[in-house]
Amino acid sequence: MARGAQLSINPDAMVHNLRVARAYAGSARIVAPVKADAYGHGLLLAAAALRGADAFAVACLEEALPLREAGYAHPILLLEGVFDGTELLPVCRYRLDIVVHADWQIRLLELERLPRPVNVWIKIDTGMHRLGFAPGQVADAFHRLSRCRNVASHIRFMTHFACADNRADAMTLRQLATFDAATADLDGEHSLANSAALLGWPQTHRQWVRPGIMLYGASPFVDQRDAPRLRPAMTLSSRLIAIRQVGAGEAVGYGHTWVASESSTVGTVALGYGDGYPRHAPSGTPVLVNGVRTQLIGRVSMDMLTVDLEPLDGRVEVGDEVVLWGGGLPAEEVARHVGTIAYELYCGVGARVPRVTMPMPSTSAPGG
Ligand SMILES: *Cc1c(COP(=O)(O)O)cnc(C)c1O
Repeated sequence: MARGAQLSINPDAMVHNLRVARAYAGSARIVAPVKADAYGHGLLLAAAALRGADAFAVACLEEALPLREAGYAHPILLLEGVFDGTELLPVCRYRLDIVVHADWQIRLLELERLPRPVNVWIKIDTGMHRLGFAPGQVADAFHRLSRCRNVASHIRFMTHFACADNRADAMTLRQLATFDAATADLDGEHSLANSAALLGWPQTHRQWVRPGIMLYGASPFVDQRDAPRLRPAMTLSSRLIAIRQVGAGEAVGYGHTWVASESSTVGTVALGYGDGYPRHAPSGTPVLVNGVRTQLIGRVSMDMLTVDLEPLDGRVEVGDEVVLWGGGLPAEEVARHVGTIAYELYCGVGARVPRVTMPMPSTSAPGG
């Protein structure tokens, strides 16, 4: 058999998580972010599982076109809008919605003569300070866009939260108040909530919510309390290709960063940072071997990593399965050990790792 490294994607889990999102969203419509290859899950696979969403969101044209080409008729929102004027015609042709976050994007729209008007979402900078119009500029942006022949009526308003993943941080409420003040006299639907706000800040739901990470089955919260029953859609696994005994005082791996304090059974796994497992994962990062929780030891190398097999008590052999994150071992927990978030682990899995899909619940064509 092949090397054994494998990225299993479970579409049923995404279908389930979308149902959870619906339950929280109530009457709000759901934009499913499928940017960055659907957080590493595979764009078209995720879109098929999440086709019950009301819209998709992506970071750029290149991520939107495959969805249209696959037949999805949903609204597709470009979260950063266009990057230059040449993108407006394809935006129009493929019926994409665009975020407008800056003056220069309004100017591009004013200069073009498009075959039909485009749906626009005005992005407001309510405190994230990354993208969007300052609150005091929103009315002017709205009025200019309302007069622009290339912009469809029903302009929407959106913002993005900086700290919604921390339920103790009042920044979310300040951002909400800033958003409400900036849009008070302007007519249009609102979209504020990411996963954390959908789950933790119901007053932000409004007409459209944009939950990403929760659809893939990870909790967005810094603390893991009160996480809803989400199912991880991604499992990264591989196999043991060697098992050895090391004596007390002997060390393992590059730099000899882990030294056995007593005689220990060590397993070598066919998966490394060349597959997207973080090299800076420290000894002690949890892994599952045959479903038994144990830990990474020593440094992660490009094609391999080493694990402590002591907890398996001898019930282990070459070829046995090792789960790095996913079913039975939340990516959030691994991420905490590594000093990152599940999002980054998901997005980082290398192209070398073969993708495997668990069977889809239904084979019907994409809907709209
Ligand atoms: C990615 C993204 C989201 C989704 O955020 P999650 O934390 O994954 O729920 C929502 N809104 C915008 C603008 C985004 O870029």
